[in-house]
Amino acid sequence: MNDKSYDVIVVGAGNAALCAALAAREQGASALVLERAPQAERGGNTTYAGGGLLMVHHGLEDIRKFVPDLTQEEIANTDFGEYTTEQYLDLIGRMTEYRIDPDLAETLVRRSTDTVEWIRRKGIRFVPMYGINSFKQQGRTKFFGGLVISVSGGGQGLIAGQIKAAEKLGVAIRYNARATSLLHGQRGVEGIGMTVDRIEQEIRAPAVVLACGGFEANREWRARYLGPGWDLAKVRGTRYNTGDGLRMALAIGAQPYGHWSGVQATPWDLNAPESAGDLVVGDGYHRRSYPLGIMLNKNGVRFLDEGADFANYNFGKYGRIILEQPGHAAWQIFDSKVLHLLNKAYRIRQAAKVTADSLEELVGKIDGVNKQQPLKTVKEYNAAVKRDVPFDPTRKDGRGTESLAIPKSNWASTIDTPPFEAYGVTCGITFTFGGLKITPQAEVVDIEEKPIPGLYAAGEMVGGIFYFNFHGVGAGLTCGAVMGRVAGENAAHYAARRQSQ
Ligand SMILES: Cc1cc2nc3c(=O)[nH]c(=O)nc-3n(C[C@H](O)[C@H](O)[C@H](O)COP(=O)(O)OP(=O)(O)OC[C@H]3O[C@@H](n4cnc5c(N)ncnc54)[C@H](O)[C@@H]3O)c2cc1C
Repeated sequence: MNDKSYDVIVVGAGNAALCAALAAREQGASALVLERAPQAERGGNTTYAGGGLLMVHHGLEDIRKFVPDLTQEEIANTDFGEYTTEQYLDLIGRMTEYRIDPDLAETLVRRSTDTVEWIRRKGIRFVPMYGINSFKQQGRTKFFGGLVISVSGGGQGLIAGQIKAAEKLGVAIRYNARATSLLHGQRGVEGIGMTVDRIEQEIRAPAVVLACGGFEANREWRARYLGPGWDLAKVRGTRYNTGDGLRMALAIGAQPYGHWSGVQATPWDLNAPESAGDLVVGDGYHRRSYPLGIMLNKNGVRFLDEGADFANYNFGKYGRIILEQPGHAAWQIFDSKVLHLLNKAYRIRQAAKVTADSLEELVGKIDGVNKQQPLKTVKEYNAAVKRDVPFDPTRKDGRGTESLAIPKSNWASTIDTPPFEAYGVTCGITFTFGGLKITPQAEVVDIEEKPIPGLYAAGEMVGGIFYFNFHGVGAGLTCGAVMGRVAGENAAHYAARRQSQ
């Protein structure tokens, strides 16, 4: 295998990388995937993902193409809504405070549906993604915010399906193969330096696609680029995304781009492991039902507007605010009126959960939290709730609070009916936003804006797609799939051109 050369080398074996390898193979290129992780931990953050993919769609008829086995009951009792190109573009414009490169945004959005359909044709099954951006009301499930489908089996299902499709198409995959450098000569990229089982090797190829994630699992880089305290955040996904691809590309003159101090980080269960996710629990440690209750820090005070928007639009930035709290921790408090609405992830046995029949008892059971202030905070909060506005979790209901220093803008429900539940949360880092500058053809550019011949990038390691906030559940996988496919196609074309010269 050492002696064989390939047209395209893809670094990584997550969603973006496997889309790149599949697309390169479809264009007739031979492709090698290098995966740093052992086979049992392959697939990067993608393996940990819930599996939702955000795309443009126009309701039931479109969704049926992706989920042909929808039951009659699901069809009758579900409003899938619609998500137009304009809505998707508007969302990512607003979420990035209009910093996203407009050409990249157009590519991501306009190729979203077609790319998800392409993934489906590779043998991946989709199911409706109930429970994240949907609520049941009077027996009918209503989706909002565009995200409707996820891969059956979540991220693990996606990786298993993509690997199967790649192997069927003849893509070679090497595990325990860590790319360490880009071989670079006068004509551009010429291959990869790597260690396989810690032994150094080189492998030649005219085109390389880097799709090996951000630096979220690198404590030292987190402290360096994101700031103090970030070394202490829990890692939600893979331990292998330590910024190798970024370092290798910057070393040959690639342009760093995007929001290098920006990050997707969310409320994450206090009991979740520290340095990498847990493949058995997967995404089950997320704690995104806070709009239904309140969040208190160890001093017993609220510190953010839990009802500012649907969690989908702020969970990716609230992790940072939790990290800034004393002890990097907080508690989400709910009463029995809303318990049936909590996401099913709250029910896992590993949850840092406390229950009690009175608030006094509840607070007494939470370690390290001020015992008086939480009771005062709940009392003030209850008194401030606008009780004349109806509570409606399916829309921004305007049932807020009056005259609190930190308002709760929607879904303010009093906390007064036992049993009460509290969930301990901390900051879980998902991925970093800083990356490499690419063209809409996924070519990596240098500081003079010139493409580095033969070098392509996709997925988390692309800069300029996310700023300040995550676009919402499903955006990570869609971005990786769209740009991975584009990168693979263009890398294959480039390799063919170079070999014919
Ligand atoms: C818990 C969790 C839940 C999520 N849920 C969702 C969701 O439902 N929907 C959504 O859209 N997004 C979700 N995301 C985000 C999403 O998973 C990521 O945005 C996406 O998977 C990133 O894909 P990627 O291919 O860029 O990187 P990854 O999937 O992380 O793949 C990177 C790959 O590179 C490999 N690698 C790293 N360094 C090297 C090296 N030097 N040499 C060789 N290989 C290397 C890694 O081992 C890995 O295989 C979630 C993330 C997490 C952690």
